[in-house]
Amino acid sequence: MAKQDYYDVLGVSKNATEAELKKAYRRLAMKHHPDRNPDNEEAEEKFKIAKEAYDVLSDAHKRAAYDQFGHAGVDNSIGGGAGAAGFGDIFDSVFGDIFGGGSGRGGERVYRGADLRYELSLTLEEAVAGTTVKIRVPKQVECTACNGSGAKKGSSPVKCTTCNGVGQVRMQQGFFSVQQTCPQCRGAGKMIKDPCPSCRGQGRVRDNKTISVKVPACVDTGDRIRLSGEGEAGQNRGPSGDLYVDVAVKEHPIFTRDDSDLYCEVPVSFATATLGGEFEVPTLDGRVKLKIPAESQSGKMFRLRGKGVRSVRGSSKGDLLCRIVVETPVNLNKTQKELLRQFDQAMHNDSKKHSPRASSWLDGVKSFFDNMTQ
Ligand SMILES: [Zn+2]
Ligand SMILES: [Zn+2]
Repeated sequence: MAKQDYYDVLGVSKNATEAELKKAYRRLAMKHHPDRNPDNEEAEEKFKIAKEAYDVLSDAHKRAAYDQFGHAGVDNSIGGGAGAAGFGDIFDSVFGDIFGGGSGRGGERVYRGADLRYELSLTLEEAVAGTTVKIRVPKQVECTACNGSGAKKGSSPVKCTTCNGVGQVRMQQGFFSVQQTCPQCRGAGKMIKDPCPSCRGQGRVRDNKTISVKVPACVDTGDRIRLSGEGEAGQNRGPSGDLYVDVAVKEHPIFTRDDSDLYCEVPVSFATATLGGEFEVPTLDGRVKLKIPAESQSGKMFRLRGKGVRSVRGSSKGDLLCRIVVETPVNLNKTQKELLRQFDQAMHNDSKKHSPRASSWLDGVKSFFDNMTQ
């Protein structure tokens, strides 16, 4: 589906000012907010698109990129799915904590719900393959008994008579007139005579909500998935906050990951390292053969191209880097020990030739002492 132009989405001109953008977005957000249009997918979609458009156009850098390259310049969405997940972009609420005043709501104040953060722990395999997980989030949700109004079923909140529903009152202090939050309704602009017994008039109740989170493939520690509107419910039917799911990948017994490359250590016998050989090493998609040449020293790194993982934003796969570690044999029996002694003896005749590292080390030690005695 072709994406709609962000300026068209918000219904503003290409040279709209920041204030115009904000105004246009608020209007759309108020109109299409899911809380006001329950079970209306079309409204939800419009709300999401407006939010996305505003997210981009309200950021000077993103707006410049969008103006120059269109959607390709700013589109970092990955994975698809619900389309609600955006990575690494921390949503800066345009509502602040309050968006109130006007728009046919009688001046009543509504409060956006708080954002929530959830740390999601994944295995490396899950993070690489992508997964869908169900998480339980304790949060404030809209009270179903009163649909968030806070008033007992059959009754409804009445306009506060002290402030006439505005939530603010003017106090005369000498020559000055000071605006204050209405002491009667504490800014809500309405009074509940008959509170809802389920939420005690709060309009919200605490509940554990099970949420299904679609985790795109190749995520890594530090990636963040945003689920719009899955935070706490707003007050006075204000919009819900967002839920941020922070990915943390657990330590793997074999692999360590660095972006798209994987690292592992492979123990090799002293004989294999000396004579060279081929053996199997694990990768995330099965075993592969690693061939090491004769005379491979401990610590040498071998690169298996394309056997790493994809980075969340890149398309090509990284490499698997295997570091061989020559293992000292243990639990030798008498015969084995004897053979090893004989072998060592045979080596001693020409130790310089067989042990490049030891001989250069010995040379170093010698010149160190020579210099000291000079
Ligand atoms: Zn209630
Ligand atoms: Zn009042």
